[in-house]
Amino acid sequence: MERLRTTCTLDCPDTCSIIAEVEDGAPVRLKGDPDHPITAGFLCGKVAADYLDRYRSPDRLVHPLRRVGPRGGGRWERIGWDEALDLVAGQIRATVDGYGSLAVLDYARAGSHSVLKLLGRRFFNLLGGATTTCGSLCIGAIQAAQTGHLVLSTMHTIDATETVARVVELFPEQQQKQVRVSLAGALRGVVSQRLLERIDGRGRIPAVEVLINTGRVYERILDPETTAELLDVIAESGYDGMQSFDQALLKLAIDGQVAEEDARAVATNPHDFGLALREAVARSAAVSEKV
Ligand code: SF4
Repeated sequence: MERLRTTCTLDCPDTCSIIAEVEDGAPVRLKGDPDHPITAGFLCGKVAADYLDRYRSPDRLVHPLRRVGPRGGGRWERIGWDEALDLVAGQIRATVDGYGSLAVLDYARAGSHSVLKLLGRRFFNLLGGATTTCGSLCIGAIQAAQTGHLVLSTMHTIDATETVARVVELFPEQQQKQVRVSLAGALRGVVSQRLLERIDGRGRIPAVEVLINTGRVYERILDPETTAELLDVIAESGYDGMQSFDQALLKLAIDGQVAEEDARAVATNPHDFGLALREAVARSAAVSEKV
């Protein structure tokens, strides 16, 4: 059995040193490195117990993928490492040649906080230096919004409630209370979309959830105990211009723009969505009978 010395790559500043026991080219056991002067054999449960499950997960990305078609379409094709590196190098080269190396943003906030991340910094230094961020991009966006600038941003989240939670969770726990105050003051709204196939086969159509920062929303952004209630507030606030995903999906299904089963498949609560759809269809049939 081979024993390799490596470093934890999780999103954690501790950078624990790892001894990986490898058989037939694959790690079979991870242990803390007892000879490391700082971490001295320590590995937390996330790595000691679970890391190899991640490594073996069928969902783990192990090959470069290139997006095919429009952003958000979810279509990807596998490409080789040489092609992927050529693509990235070409984009960086074109930017440096056209605008100088400071036009490149070296941003690696999420993911590993370990020393491995610093290798990227060396690369950009050799390139002539790149623009980096100080702290997180999110707090910069919130501060700009607080000082009267229009800030539009995108996040990969499943709905408006998770968007609020995700922004808060990007910050260390001791800053989250202040971030909630800043976000509640600066946020105007969140528009979240899920794309569905049109029933007529002519492309896709978005179901759109809309959150507007009213007084009830403001209070729930401030209070972590009630943030999860945002979904109910959205559903109850059509008068204020809000709508939940399931309400948007219901309209699309009733209007005959998407198939009922497609709408149910992406509904936030498929059971309640099915009931609401049946009720709406029955109500519409009763109205037709009267007419
Ligand atoms: S092993 Fe655990 S404590 Fe150590 S760096 Fe990785 S995540 Fe952090």
